[in-house]
Amino acid sequence: MTIRDIFDAMSYGPATESAAEAMAWLDTHGRRFGHFIDGAFTQPGESFATMNPATGETLAEVTQGSADDVARAVAAARKAQAPWAAQSGHQRARVLYALARLMQKHARLFAVLETLDTGKPIRESRDIDVPLVARHFYYHAGLAQLMDAERPGMEALGVCGQIVPWNFPLLMLAWKVAPALAAGNAVVLKPAEYTPLTALLFAEISREAGVPKGVINIVTGDGETGAALVVAKVDKIAFTGSTEVGRKIREETAGRGIALTLELGGKSPYIVFDDADLDSAVEGLVDAIWFNGGQVCCAGSRLLVQEGVAARFHTKLRARMDTLRVGDPLDKCIDMGAIAGPVQRDRIAAMVAANAEGDTHVAACAVPEGCFYPPTLIAGLSPSNPLMQQEVFGPVLVSSTFRTPGEATEMANNSRYGLAASVWTENVNLALDMAPKLAAGVVWINGTNMFDAAAGFGGVRESGFGREGGWEGLMAYLRPARTPRALKPVAPNPAPASAKVEGIDRTAKFYIGGKQARPDSGYSTPVWGAKGRLLGHVGTGSRKDIRNAVEAARGARGWAKTTAHNRTQVLYYIAENLSARAVEFAARLKAMTGKAGEAEVEAAISRLFTYAAWADKVEGAAKPVPMKALALALREPVGVIGALCPDEAPLLGLVSAMAPAIAMGNACVLVPSCAHPLMAADLAQVLDTSDLPGGVVNFVAGPAADLAAALAGHMDVDAVWSFSSADISGLVERLSAGNLKRTWVNDGRARDWFGAEGEGREFLAQAVEVKTVWVPYGEG
Ligand code: NAP
Ligand code: MG
Repeated sequence: MTIRDIFDAMSYGPATESAAEAMAWLDTHGRRFGHFIDGAFTQPGESFATMNPATGETLAEVTQGSADDVARAVAAARKAQAPWAAQSGHQRARVLYALARLMQKHARLFAVLETLDTGKPIRESRDIDVPLVARHFYYHAGLAQLMDAERPGMEALGVCGQIVPWNFPLLMLAWKVAPALAAGNAVVLKPAEYTPLTALLFAEISREAGVPKGVINIVTGDGETGAALVVAKVDKIAFTGSTEVGRKIREETAGRGIALTLELGGKSPYIVFDDADLDSAVEGLVDAIWFNGGQVCCAGSRLLVQEGVAARFHTKLRARMDTLRVGDPLDKCIDMGAIAGPVQRDRIAAMVAANAEGDTHVAACAVPEGCFYPPTLIAGLSPSNPLMQQEVFGPVLVSSTFRTPGEATEMANNSRYGLAASVWTENVNLALDMAPKLAAGVVWINGTNMFDAAAGFGGVRESGFGREGGWEGLMAYLRPARTPRALKPVAPNPAPASAKVEGIDRTAKFYIGGKQARPDSGYSTPVWGAKGRLLGHVGTGSRKDIRNAVEAARGARGWAKTTAHNRTQVLYYIAENLSARAVEFAARLKAMTGKAGEAEVEAAISRLFTYAAWADKVEGAAKPVPMKALALALREPVGVIGALCPDEAPLLGLVSAMAPAIAMGNACVLVPSCAHPLMAADLAQVLDTSDLPGGVVNFVAGPAADLAAALAGHMDVDAVWSFSSADISGLVERLSAGNLKRTWVNDGRARDWFGAEGEGREFLAQAVEVKTVWVPYGEG
């Protein structure tokens, strides 16, 4: 071979990272592990093997966690949590800082062990996963330090159950453990069955870092162990994994008054416009879909290329695919390692084999025998093809073309998922126009798979809810510290003994799409005043009325695009019109409740002013990420919010739910108090004269449980709030599993609607979705 040949081929020999240190560590444990509970490893019990998928060799035996093991771990965490939370933020910061330092000290051991257990390339575990893990602990040391001063009045949730998948075992652990500990929680974490080893190494390191015993517990096992953790006595479940299991967990945790965040699957679009830097976009796909064998939740697995450049782009892409190096994950020159296990490999193969459509290109690169799968591109699939809709979780890229930006948006959003999206264009105007239109929690402009502890990560739609990273991520492990007060049910006024109800013409209709609407059922009920006076009739709402109201709310989507200033004006105007009728409203309240209504009307006017003020003051942020990129946290409306309004304050309750929702650009369907439903009809008259576009606010009255069920079960509702009774909270959470909508429920706890807990940041946070838009710039 001549030097010239070598230059032409540019091939290079293997550069294998040594596994010796990792193997030696496994040996110190006799290659058999128990759980890590209360600061020590338990005796190994009934066990299963975890293997290196690249070689098929068994690395160690780990213990299959039983419900008893889970209960012991939860008990240890329970005992440790209060003292941990009682430490100062600074003391917790010291411990998190020590964890970060130790991660760096043992970086190589962690990286090699991760690669052995998962089959991912050492370049990924060494250069991406482990540095991000260390960064995560540094960042959260800072949040612990600042928390008391910056987020006063908040407290830790308690014991958090955390369940993670096999694609980023250590990184997902860090994303969950760091904020939980910073906030003062104790955790019980279940790693994935295939990849438990780095979690066990982390547990060992945590002792060295001075984490008090019981604050971190690791219970290994399979899905059953995970299921046992979900039903254990925990205060939160934080889950990363498939949408299917996420849905089950939503149902299991419903009505238990515990917190839940779900980071689920995706089918993320990767959009290439004709003016994009095509070579960079091709290289981006290596990171987006092939680097980790496509086993990335936010993998850009759906390629959308603008028609004019599609042929050229595909040619470049196929050429690049053919040069990918697939093989030994410990080799530093490898682009793509092994698939996590034979089951996954077979699943990928079966999904591809089942497809008969399109034009398939299998990379011409050499692919070893065993748990490996070749980089695959399938072009020209119809939008409804299963490969276009379902997550493959393998190195399989599907591709289609579009003509206009509008078409690209439509195709990109044609998915039940909403985790991430990439947009490639040199036109900054187009990029910034696209970002808000994409249904995704994260958007990368001219890039892909950028992550940082300071920037939020998480999905919308069936990709789950909640954000990890940044202050938002910390808040998901905190709750307002208030003395819980039980909700006292407010019953409708009873009918007087000798009631005559004929001849009343005031039947309150619903307010749907800016118009009065009759109840579909045709039924209405008399509503009695405080002194046995008949106040009117109210329609009995049904599923059909809710459907109509949701359709009207969907139709009012333009509200989300109005300027914040415009929303401010409308809210002030509603306040002004309510104020003009204050005397009349106070009298109505008196007739309903028997109590003077002036104070409540005044409070409602003030509340409208509060959200008029907030409408143009909820700020996005540019997150200080450690790279040349803007990571913009945009506050976007959630969409359509359904709310069961409180009984305790007929008018103020309605306004307190409505105003934050519309201030942030949402449309809403509100179910007024069961005790005093006529208030909604009165308020509708005020809205009608206040320049609020029809459909932005809709009222449907009726039996709370039926209407709550209709809202929670509706696929076009994005979030449901319940300030109604405890049973309604459970119902809403359970039925929301269908499209995994966000929920915010009171679990039967009362709120002081007249005071500070009746308004403010807590409401605003529920009314927005944080979208992180990454815009890298400069020469790298
Ligand atoms: P999975 O089957 O949902 O498993 C995830 C975790 O849940 C594993 O630890 C699993 O244990 C456990 N589990 C399984 N059944 C359970 C049950 N009934 N109750 C409680 N826990 C249960 O997901 P996977 O196939 O391992 O992981 C791939 C999925 O994760 C993909 O859909 C991917 O998109 C998603 N993901 C999402 C993100 C994100 O941030 N959004 C990040 C990474 C991955 P076993 O290991 O024994 O199955
Ligand atoms: Mg393994």
